[in-house]
Amino acid sequence: MNQATPESNKVDSSVFLTISELRKSYGSREALRGINLDLKRGEFLCLFGPNGAGKSTLLKILATLLRPSSGTVQVLDYDLEEHAEKFRANLGMVSHQSFVYQDLTVLENLEFFAALYGVQDSQSRALELLEEVNLVDRYDMPAANLSRGMQQRLSIARALVNDPALLLLDEPYTGLDEHAASVLRDQLQKLHSRKRTIVMVTHNLRRGLESATRLGILAHGKLTYLQEKKDIDATAFEEIYFKHLGAA
Ligand code: ADP
Ligand code: MG
Repeated sequence: MNQATPESNKVDSSVFLTISELRKSYGSREALRGINLDLKRGEFLCLFGPNGAGKSTLLKILATLLRPSSGTVQVLDYDLEEHAEKFRANLGMVSHQSFVYQDLTVLENLEFFAALYGVQDSQSRALELLEEVNLVDRYDMPAANLSRGMQQRLSIARALVNDPALLLLDEPYTGLDEHAASVLRDQLQKLHSRKRTIVMVTHNLRRGLESATRLGILAHGKLTYLQEKKDIDATAFEEIYFKHLGAA
């Protein structure tokens, strides 16, 4: 997969990710009921929606952690299921599950994941990321001893270790204090300016609206709303969003 070039934050016209007729059932429960979506390189999609709508299911499928019941995901020219390994190397995920080893130190965690992804000079990459998420002074601490917000910052650093072409975030602002939240926002803006493609699920309207280039609402397993952010008035979007929440 090609890496994006750093010079511009304009969205590339080329389609990066195509989701077609994606469905997922857990037993008889249909969590996703036919999702269709094209994402261009450099787009920042923020997905909102009520609890149980299927948002985490969608992100897990994109992260290759879960297989769809039917439908396909294409990344550039690759089918996701056929090329999961290759795709994972270009992927970062932040979710409730921290993917952090509690008994390793902060630095060891990042070095471990950097090595896993074949990042050259894993220690300097790890230190650089710790600097960016303001955890350098905790480098020696076992991850288990970090506060909730620090854990979250570490899992963000971990997700960025391979400089992913696609970053998936599932409610990343949950549990963050304002400081940690602005660290995250800055990280996301930096990635976005380097044309990384981002899909973020959040209930935080303000944080979603401030960063996204595209807004979507997922309800009852369907994308019921999808718009370029530049074409939407924030207040109007809020109304639409609360209507969806009320209907759920
Ligand atoms: P969201 O992230 O939007 O809250 P989820 O994707 O977590 O929604 O869940 C969508 C639906 O699928 C919900 O009804 C949920 O209860 C169900 N679900 C999610 N994960 C599982 C699972 N592992 N087994 C059975 N049902 C599940
Ligand atoms: Mg969820």
